[in-house]
Amino acid sequence: MGGLTCALALAQEGFKNIDVYESASDLGFVGAGIQLAPNMARVLDRLGVWKGIEAEAVNIEETSVRVGATDSELAHVPLQYIKDTYGYPHMVGHRSSLSNGLYQGCLRYPNIKFHFSTSAADVDSFGPRPSFTATPRDSSQAPYRVEADVLLGADGIKSNTRVAMMEKLGIQTGVKDTNQAAYRIMIHKDQIKDDPELLALINGTKVTRWIGEKRHIIAYPVSNNTIYNLSTVQPDTNFAAATNATYTTRGSKKTMLEVFGDFCPMVQRMLSYVPEGEVCEWKLRVHEPLETWTHESTALVGDACHPTLPHLAQGAAQAIEDGAVIAIALSLLPDTTPASIAKALKVYEKVRKERAYALVELAAASGRALHLGDGAAKEERDKQFAALKKGNGPVPDKWADADVQKIIYGFDCQLETREKFNEYFA
Ligand SMILES: Cc1cc2nc3c(=O)[nH]c(=O)nc-3n(C[C@H](O)[C@H](O)[C@H](O)COP(=O)(O)OP(=O)(O)OC[C@H]3O[C@@H](n4cnc5c(N)ncnc54)[C@H](O)[C@@H]3O)c2cc1C
Repeated sequence: MGGLTCALALAQEGFKNIDVYESASDLGFVGAGIQLAPNMARVLDRLGVWKGIEAEAVNIEETSVRVGATDSELAHVPLQYIKDTYGYPHMVGHRSSLSNGLYQGCLRYPNIKFHFSTSAADVDSFGPRPSFTATPRDSSQAPYRVEADVLLGADGIKSNTRVAMMEKLGIQTGVKDTNQAAYRIMIHKDQIKDDPELLALINGTKVTRWIGEKRHIIAYPVSNNTIYNLSTVQPDTNFAAATNATYTTRGSKKTMLEVFGDFCPMVQRMLSYVPEGEVCEWKLRVHEPLETWTHESTALVGDACHPTLPHLAQGAAQAIEDGAVIAIALSLLPDTTPASIAKALKVYEKVRKERAYALVELAAASGRALHLGDGAAKEERDKQFAALKKGNGPVPDKWADADVQKIIYGFDCQLETREKFNEYFA
């Protein structure tokens, strides 16, 4: 998401030679839903790709937080106010719709060149002319060296660019174990045509979160209400002993049903619709915050520098903010010397780093509150839910809290970059 946004935003700013190296053979259409928060929509709209993505998405009008075991409602939060307040509604969509929308936007610019099935590795210079080795998957093609004016490492949570940059700078970086993993599940409407309860959910405009100790499930309809998307979080057992390089694995349906075995019958029914052999489990990994996101004319983007737990539904939105900010910062350069490029990338870091890491923390904190087991902290949380039912107080599920939404959705990263450029560049 970050790489596509960088390419599109840079092209829109008039940059002429943009090359995107992607190790996968295509955009990797992971079967998963994604929340399209207003701060993401605002950027996408300005990049001219929001209309197409919006047309396939579902406008979320409300959210319900429920006890997993009993399905009783802890909180109901109307979300229609979001469009009037932030200019865009809170929508949810298919991940492929988002990446394809960005990709189609890129295709409008012939100066963006895609190199699929080509891995970028071995960064041997970060500036003044950053360079790396591009290795085509097709072994009949030899690896070749690429040199650029600016290198943006949007290579995800396993980022080679981050590792190389931190090694070069002698900065120790640590992986923080979250002890959490996630199943991502999609149920198609025809699978549940005889299940009125689930049909009501798929036809609705609601995000539902069922919570329990150390676990939750968040679910919403996507793709014009034809698919019901579920994303779970549970203690990581499969990956606990695995190396850092392991992120996804084929899960067992039996285990998944056992993990949520004490959730209510409707949730269990939902999970049982997943075809055997199609259970995919993701390790939720994060890192310690990095001291720097840039070195000379090279910058890190998205999960490469701020992997975020999904509990705030902001990881991709933040990667998209990164791309938009980088393009504006580079477009405002008074000259194109390597020294100025390095300073512009620092402007990007100044606009983005503190905000991104604040959201990383907030997402982790929200997860902790949602996953509480019996005890004083849970009693306190449930008092907040009870107060909310009477009409006041914060929402312990932070993505649904109006004050948190103000921080996240009310921030216009592009405007901020333009307004602060001279101050930060100086
Ligand atoms: C369960 C779950 C639910 C989520 N829900 C949401 C949500 O609702 N809303 C939201 O905003 N975010 C959500 N996220 C977060 C979001 O998916 C990520 O934050 C986002 O995809 C990060 O984008 P990125 O571009 O940084 O990295 P990625 O999307 O991981 O892209 C990195 C790309 O780089 C490529 N690559 C990697 N290494 C190389 C290499 N050496 N050479 C060339 N190419 C390479 C990869 O193939 C990949 O295409 C969720 C995440 C999870 C795990």
